[in-house]
Amino acid sequence: AEAQEKGTISIHTENIFPIIKKFLYSDHEIFLRELVSNAVDATQKLKKLSSMGEFTGELGDLTINVSFDKEKKTITVSDRGLGMTGDEIKKYINQIAFSGATEFVEKFKDKGDAKDIIGKFGLGFYSAFMVAEKVEIVSRSYKVDNASEAVRWECDGSTEFELTPAEKAERGTDIILHINADSEEFLDEWRLKGILDKYCKFLPVEIKFGMEGESVEDGTDEQGKPKYKTIQKDRIINNPAPLWAKSPAELKDEDYLKFYKELYPYTEDPLFWIHLNVDYPFNLTGVLYFPKVKADFELQRNKIQLYSRQVFITDEVKDVVPDFLMLLHGILDSPDIPLNVSRSYLQSDANVKKISAHITKKVADKLQELFKKDRKDFEKKWDDISIFVKYGIISDDKFYDKVKDFALFKNVDGQYFTFEEYKEKVKANQTDKDGQLIYLYTSSAGKQDSFIQAAKNKGYDVLQLDGVIDSHFINTLEQKLEKTQLKRVDSEIADKLVEKDEKLESVLSEDEKTQIKGVFDKAINNTTFTVTVESLSTDELPVVITMSEFMRRMKDMAKLGGGG
Ligand code: ADP
Ligand code: MG
Repeated sequence: AEAQEKGTISIHTENIFPIIKKFLYSDHEIFLRELVSNAVDATQKLKKLSSMGEFTGELGDLTINVSFDKEKKTITVSDRGLGMTGDEIKKYINQIAFSGATEFVEKFKDKGDAKDIIGKFGLGFYSAFMVAEKVEIVSRSYKVDNASEAVRWECDGSTEFELTPAEKAERGTDIILHINADSEEFLDEWRLKGILDKYCKFLPVEIKFGMEGESVEDGTDEQGKPKYKTIQKDRIINNPAPLWAKSPAELKDEDYLKFYKELYPYTEDPLFWIHLNVDYPFNLTGVLYFPKVKADFELQRNKIQLYSRQVFITDEVKDVVPDFLMLLHGILDSPDIPLNVSRSYLQSDANVKKISAHITKKVADKLQELFKKDRKDFEKKWDDISIFVKYGIISDDKFYDKVKDFALFKNVDGQYFTFEEYKEKVKANQTDKDGQLIYLYTSSAGKQDSFIQAAKNKGYDVLQLDGVIDSHFINTLEQKLEKTQLKRVDSEIADKLVEKDEKLESVLSEDEKTQIKGVFDKAINNTTFTVTVESLSTDELPVVITMSEFMRRMKDMAKLGGGG
């Protein structure tokens, strides 16, 4: 037999480097997200060290500064975090895929949580080489006392680096990118501002990018009116304490409404919201808003943003949020959702499944709470939220089980009933000869008024089910509700219902009825339709022409291009 051999696979860095540069991220703009999140991590670590008494100096102003120089073709990210010594640079920077963030979290995991550390893969820094031909690090660790003990690291994207002593007046790190010829688009104020707004808007440390004017009072004029002048001040691009990162207990309704406007200016107030806050078995925070659903609701889809520790990741949340909740708005923040991986992987990821199920449950719980707290108010909101609920009932059995006791039917008179209440209401009067419950509905109120009136005259109730997804909803209900069929009010079945004993006398004689029916049958000459002549009172049409429920559904299916 051959001898067994064990060993270590080796990697030639000079081959791996170009691959990282090219394929690490498909979007080159990500470099800024990575460098700023490293600066945030460095700051958070220093704060942590300070709170543990391991750092006793002044924290001072911890603002991160992002700047660029068009002439020199540089972009610089500076922080006043913990900094690095030469040895630390060798350890953390020179070793690709060795994460100082993970190491830090490991080291201090017994001393409280380290939830606020972003990094974990040890690759982010190298994304700088996607846009830079040379990267410099100038860093002064919190551990050294003198400006002259700082260090400079330089690398041109090859596997060689240079580490030299440097002068740095302040603690912290400057990352200086010498932008390559292909990436000069990034040497632009609005391009950079756009990237910062997109990815860094809610990072937990203040980030300064340039200056901005602010109008301030400046004494009074001769008439005693206040005068104003414009002063320049630091432009802080982020809100370091976004609402979802706070405890729900310290928030008021106004805060949620204000944050909604911050996310979606120019939109109507939402109906209500859910604040997510889970630690275990996965980590998830966020706030989901129920918007007022508009007719053009496709435009309102895909408004949920996915964050990981307050860093924006994507607004493609299709695989994390159940489809029927894609109309919700707001923020999800979870470090437990795998990033930069393929779709199919995401769908099968256990955490993603749990998160999706959790969101569904929270939505159902919230609806139930609203129903129990104030039924009248719930009814008022029903027309706006019914689309979510119906869609959820259609697509998710578990959701149906959770909402079936408070999902509502609305009848043509604008009254609302739970499924159970409705059954109680109609069961005495709306069964067929086999004892099946028959629910009548209109799918186009207005056009079917005479049918509705006829049904009412017989003491039947008619539901209003004329929304965009109601035909699917009806099919689902017939599967879910026991011994119940839903029939359009203009279908022939209306006449086959077992009628009440106190049946009214017809105002037409049998002869008259047969005559009238003959005339109509001949005129229509189409067996798809059934002509019924019946008149219980004079305010009702004597002739009703119906298409059977079966034929109607066949036609609907044909319209949809067949299949269901
Ligand atoms: P990650 O952030 O996932 O750990 P990175 O490649 O982004 O990986 O960074 C590697 C390591 O380099 C970090 O973990 C950290 O130890 C160190 N580092 C990077 N940027 C800074 C910085 N601005 N200040 C201090 N240390 C830094
Ligand atoms: Mg990082």
